[in-house]
Amino acid sequence: MQKISKLAVLTSGGDAPGMNPCIRAVVRTAIYNGLNVVGVKQGYKGLIENDMYDMNKRSVSNILNLGGTILKTARCLEFRTDEGMETAYQNLKAQGIDALVVIGGDGTFTGALRFSKKYPDIQIIGVPGTIDNDLYGSTYTLGFDTATNTVIEAIDKIRDTADAHDRLFFIEVMGRDSGAIALRAGISCGAEAILLPEVETAIDDLIASIKTGHLNKKSSSIVIVAEGDKHGGVYDIAKMVEKEVEHYDIKVTILGHLQRGGSPSSFDRILGSRLGFAAVNALIAGETQHMVGLRANEIVLTSLEEALTSHEFKLEDDLMQMAHILSI
Ligand code: ATP
Repeated sequence: MQKISKLAVLTSGGDAPGMNPCIRAVVRTAIYNGLNVVGVKQGYKGLIENDMYDMNKRSVSNILNLGGTILKTARCLEFRTDEGMETAYQNLKAQGIDALVVIGGDGTFTGALRFSKKYPDIQIIGVPGTIDNDLYGSTYTLGFDTATNTVIEAIDKIRDTADAHDRLFFIEVMGRDSGAIALRAGISCGAEAILLPEVETAIDDLIASIKTGHLNKKSSSIVIVAEGDKHGGVYDIAKMVEKEVEHYDIKVTILGHLQRGGSPSSFDRILGSRLGFAAVNALIAGETQHMVGLRANEIVLTSLEEALTSHEFKLEDDLMQMAHILSI
């Protein structure tokens, strides 16, 4: 087995709270094991532009509590091309780097797998970092818990004003292809309805349930809309409902990018630390083309191939049933 001596770490795609604790764990675990570590700025863009720097234990001091990523992140079209990949490979070789930890979502893993198949002498381990919680191979992804807590805090505040004025609020949350944040935030805040990309929404049913809520003397209603809902944007849905529901003053709020920021929760700090630690240990053990994930509170390795081709319905049945029953 080839022994690695120098590894690089990068964050790619959308930023997610918990990436910094993970970077810290990667750097310190690597140094503990006698490896050299390089930080790559702005994901795959930094590999192509040779934007890398040597890291030491102190490079990651006091970052556990920081949202975002100290390495910065980017979306990089050039890495999708053979020429871009070749440049990245030459830059890694020139620096004597033989292992890579990539922290990101499915796009990042797709790039990592393609790259690793072309250049198998660079070992690669992926860490699932995305607020969407939509990756096979890990029950939770980095950032999801913090983002959900941020959404809950915002909706609790909106509920106060909704209640004071008998208002119906439509609140759009992130999740183009995944209703994970919407579902958990909806249950946690007692939303009257939750519209998810995974489920076809019947607008008539939504209107009927809002009317029933009013008859049942609900003083306010909150409808959470995941941004990927098939009916279009939250404004379109609010307009459809407004025509039929007269008793509420209707308002729309889009939570937007505030969902990505903020200090990582305890859960994301621990998860980031565990996954970073596990990623380096996997590389030292000779693993490549795998991701580290959390399942049943155990760290497990899943091949990138399997992670990218398997589809698991991640929204739990009991949560879906409960969301409806508990909000009547
Ligand atoms: P998030 O889930 O937060 O959006 P992500 O990792 O899925 O994160 P993407 O923008 O989809 O974010 O992908 C990140 C980067 O991975 C892209 O900017 C690109 O550099 C690289 N990448 C994505 N798909 C491929 C591909 N098919 N080949 C090579 N590189 C790719």
